[in-house]
Amino acid sequence: MNNSDRTDRRPFRNRSLSASSLLVALLLLMTLAPAAPASVYDGSSIVLDNATSSYQLGMHMDYIEDPSRKLSLNEITSAPYRERFSLHRKNAPSFGFTESAFWYRTEIVNPYPTAQTLILEETIPYIDSIRLYTPDRSKPGGYAVRHAGDKLPFKDREILHHNFLFKITVGANQRLPVFIRIESRAAVMTPFTIWQEAAFDQHARNINILYGLFFGILISIAIYSLFLLLNMRETIYLYFILFIGCVALVVSTSHGLSYMYLWPESPRIAEMMQVVGISLFQIIGILFARSFLHTRETLPHINRLFNILLLVHTLIIGTALVSDDFILIAKISILCLYLYSFLLLLSGILALRSGNRAARFYLLAWTSSIIGALITALTLFNILPYHFVLLNAGYLFGFLLDVIFLSLALSDKILVLRQERDQAQQSAHETLQSSKERLEVEVAERTKDLVSARKEAELANQAKTQFLSNMSHELRSPLIGILGFSELLLTDEEHPLTPEQQENTQVIHDSGNHLKELIDDVLNIAIIESGSFAIDLQSISLREALAEAITLVQASASKQKIEIIDRTTDESEMFWVAADRLRLRQVIINLLSNAIKYSNSPGRVTVALEQTESGVRLCVRDRGPGISKENLATIFEPFTRHTDNAGIEGVGIGLTITRKLIKLMNGWITVDSVLGEGSTFSIELPASLNQTGAATAAKPHPAASPRSMALAARNAKQHRILYIEDNLSSQVFLEHVFKRRKDVTLHFSSTGLEGIASAREHTPDIVLTDIRLPDITGFDVLRELKEHKKTAHIPVIAISANATPDDLEKGRDIGFVNYLTKPVEINILMDTVNRLLLQEG
Ligand code: ADP
Repeated sequence: MNNSDRTDRRPFRNRSLSASSLLVALLLLMTLAPAAPASVYDGSSIVLDNATSSYQLGMHMDYIEDPSRKLSLNEITSAPYRERFSLHRKNAPSFGFTESAFWYRTEIVNPYPTAQTLILEETIPYIDSIRLYTPDRSKPGGYAVRHAGDKLPFKDREILHHNFLFKITVGANQRLPVFIRIESRAAVMTPFTIWQEAAFDQHARNINILYGLFFGILISIAIYSLFLLLNMRETIYLYFILFIGCVALVVSTSHGLSYMYLWPESPRIAEMMQVVGISLFQIIGILFARSFLHTRETLPHINRLFNILLLVHTLIIGTALVSDDFILIAKISILCLYLYSFLLLLSGILALRSGNRAARFYLLAWTSSIIGALITALTLFNILPYHFVLLNAGYLFGFLLDVIFLSLALSDKILVLRQERDQAQQSAHETLQSSKERLEVEVAERTKDLVSARKEAELANQAKTQFLSNMSHELRSPLIGILGFSELLLTDEEHPLTPEQQENTQVIHDSGNHLKELIDDVLNIAIIESGSFAIDLQSISLREALAEAITLVQASASKQKIEIIDRTTDESEMFWVAADRLRLRQVIINLLSNAIKYSNSPGRVTVALEQTESGVRLCVRDRGPGISKENLATIFEPFTRHTDNAGIEGVGIGLTITRKLIKLMNGWITVDSVLGEGSTFSIELPASLNQTGAATAAKPHPAASPRSMALAARNAKQHRILYIEDNLSSQVFLEHVFKRRKDVTLHFSSTGLEGIASAREHTPDIVLTDIRLPDITGFDVLRELKEHKKTAHIPVIAISANATPDDLEKGRDIGFVNYLTKPVEINILMDTVNRLLLQEG
């Protein structure tokens, strides 16, 4: 007996457990008592045989239990104890949780003439202490002792390997007695194997390949899951990656690998990690399961139990970090492991039953790891045949399948979600498609309706325009007589009227004029509303347009003793706006006329131009009676006149037209009025960007007096004018007009064709033509005349009751020298005629 033996007899203070022991204990706690040793001892030796590469020590040894843990080698080899050894006859000696120490005894017989080198291997890494006694060659009869066990720092191991290894050399033809003392407070399981050295090397290589495969697959799945985590940002992938980490930790700890590679200096950490690792493993497993099955919503009872387990494991980890005694917490951890495994299986089954398809792989995963652990446990407890594939692979592959199936479960879950999403999308798409088709049909129907409605509207519009044109023609024709003849009577110098006749005729003439204005206004408003009112926007100087309008109303202003004052401050500015020249003039005249009309006489009307943010504003202010608030709301309505204007001429349509015209020119009109103080009407028009189109204001035709007409007539040679007209009163009117011109002979034709023939025959100096002739139109007449060499040079003037803007535009475009509307103003007609005759002359 040597000293080291004696010193090693002190009791162990710290005991340890491993992850695999915990799993194995799952089975054992309830069922296994320490294995009953066989009562007959029939030899405990291993006879080496070159054909056998390894021997399970359990089958070739006898043992003795030392509950006091105090027996020495000397004592157990002494007679009383020697007799008490009993044969074990199981592959892996296992005695469950026990405080006892155990002595194993065998004899290795080398029948060969050469020495044999053997390796003694113990694969459970948590055994506290292993002592190997072999004869000490230097001390005959004495034994040398070697130590292993997890209390020993890794670096102090005889062979630096994750399992406990001893090298044993058996001399040629030698019988080598071997004693092994085991002590561990955790479940004692000691699967000792004696290897031929070469066979062990081969075995170690195989095991390394197995580890390589195992950890390689884990790392690949973890990287793949990390990629998914980064892409999908779902917490479950984080749990899964952590779970893989925990599997790696538990497996490497239970195989002694983490001690070897991660904390070789620290037996304490190695021991602690055996408890902490298994708790962490359960915590992450629970978090994963909760998240995977949404247990809070779908399985609330199981979720509650999961939460309790989480709490217990957190406490276990906390205690393990500060305590040195791991036995109690390890036992609690084992109990939790039962519950954990049970809950995982149960949750999987319930989820599957409730129709959660993804729970299939989930259930498979947990089943495989539990079956894997069972296989290892059953091997360790000699229920299954002892084989390293069963011992390791059951455990490793169980976990591997666990991870692989969980990974499939996750993919399946994504697949299920995607299928659900696709289905939802598909049905949404179908709904969308069908509503789109419905919509398309409706749109097609509506479009058809709209097209036909538009056609109808266009036809109605055309009919309306035609009607307006006809109305204009029909209303103007009788006016020709009234205005023309009254004017003739008033201006006849040869047969002047008596003062009373003069006065009465003037009333006829004024009433006719009033009627004409009324007709013009009504037609204007109707044309604007029909939408066929053409607006020709150009760059126009509002300053010039205003000046021109002031000139035109000046006479009536003076008559009423109204002074018109321009208060525009910026004198150099032209105030360019985009507007229609004629319509703008009409608008300004209208406002000025109203201001003059409603001013108190004598009085003053002020006008002012100013630049605004987006355009130009014109304000027309009078000091008239003003407009009450109630009346202000209606002044733009057609035919609105207020009783307080009694005695002032008007029909209540001017402002209606003004506002419509301003709107057509993209501007607006506002009015500001205080009763008793006066009114300010303001129009604002958009500024013109392009000022190059600025035209000079058209000057009004200078009024030609009958006297000047006569003068012109006296000095002139004889001219021919052909008037193509079917309306007798128009013919008579012009006959009277030209009767005063001795230099002009007027010829008549009452149809277009007749007129053309006459023009070809007599080549008049001027042709006047109506547009609505009984056979062809005035336009046709013009075209015919222009096409014929003899008549192409003759200027043609249209005189028509067709007075819509369209008619005027068409007339201008086609090539009439002038397009005069009925009732013709004698002055304008004469001016045109004089100008043409002068040019000719
Ligand atoms: P009319 O002047 O022919 O009656 P308008 O359409 O021009 O028609 O004007 C409509 C009504 O608005 C007028 O009848 C009058 O009551 C009121 N009004 C227009 N301008 C003025 C003004 N400068 N001062 C007071 N009242 C006005």
